[in-house]
Amino acid sequence: MIPVTVVKTGPEQEALVLEVLRSGQLAQGALVERFEDEFARLHGVGHAIAVNNGTTALVAAMKAHDLGPGDEVVTSPFTFVATLNAILDTGATARFADIGDDFNVRPDAVEAVTNDRTRVLMPVHLYGLVADMDPITELARQRDLAVVEDAAQAVAATYRGRAAGSFGTGCFSLYATKNVSTGEGGMITTDDDELADRLRVTRNQGMRQRYEYVLAGNNYRLTDLAAAVGIPQLSSIDEMTRRRTENADFYRHALADVPGLLLPPPVPPDRRHVYHQFTVRITDDAPVRRDQFVDDLRAAGVGSGIYYPRVVFDYDCYRDRPDVVSDDVPDAFRIAGQVVSLPVHQHLTDADRDAVAAAVRKVLSS
Ligand SMILES: *Cc1c(COP(=O)(O)O)cnc(C)c1O
Repeated sequence: MIPVTVVKTGPEQEALVLEVLRSGQLAQGALVERFEDEFARLHGVGHAIAVNNGTTALVAAMKAHDLGPGDEVVTSPFTFVATLNAILDTGATARFADIGDDFNVRPDAVEAVTNDRTRVLMPVHLYGLVADMDPITELARQRDLAVVEDAAQAVAATYRGRAAGSFGTGCFSLYATKNVSTGEGGMITTDDDELADRLRVTRNQGMRQRYEYVLAGNNYRLTDLAAAVGIPQLSSIDEMTRRRTENADFYRHALADVPGLLLPPPVPPDRRHVYHQFTVRITDDAPVRRDQFVDDLRAAGVGSGIYYPRVVFDYDCYRDRPDVVSDDVPDAFRIAGQVVSLPVHQHLTDADRDAVAAAVRKVLSS
């Protein structure tokens, strides 16, 4: 079976983890600080604040911008559920802007749902492709809104020479299956010194000095053990991205003319896609339905994933909630019914990707 995600650690991680175990400092300490410094440098920002997961990063970032009940956040309807849950956790209301063929929010759609109650624009850099940030940051500037990027899938992705997470307050996930992973973990990036200070204090029970509380905080800390797993990965990001891009380009050629299959649009030359996922669409006139396609691929020894099978608010638990607005997002509904992600990770061999392409072609010619 060729899996859609592989989690692997190497000797560098083993050595660093062992160092932490022997040091007796398992919780947040010097290694978290080193991880933050290297993460900030990689993204060209002044500060990176490590937290215990990506959902926490989003909640902490929004709360640091004083978001609360009555405020609205405009985000993507085509995202992992954490984006929505984080917004609801702050007490704010979630609004949704429809997506384009690149799977990211369309700036014109963001503008259309923005109103007097909007406080935060939250684009999601889905699959590792940065959303069209220039018009989004321009809209935020004109209306005096905060930009909180859900960059969970976009470590080291770039847009016009700038990294994901550098356009506003960046929120990254280091969950097990993400491109850079510590099992569980998250990172918040910002250039704003005051915001960074507030986030650091919030992360540690609102404590600046020992037992001196300056705000009502929480425990959002990451551990040195986790940082030891993450640090070595930062130095191999370019190599990982290069291999993921090669695999994606291979599929773009090998699958260019398969009926019923829609490839992702070409990556704009001003962006570096980090291919957290390589996602194709099974069109409505294909010989098999999307879910059948996934089953047939599995039978042929090829794993795949559906990220995400439905629009994020299209579940009973979110219906009839006044803080979840069912905005009109027809393209997100259509695309959610068509997407399948193929294995694109750096551990794929040439033979693996040949096998994936052959299986896709065969299933769609049945
Ligand atoms: C993974 C992910 C999150 C949440 O991160 P966790 O570390 O799992 O809490 C948020 N948004 C998106 C788009 C994600 O993919």
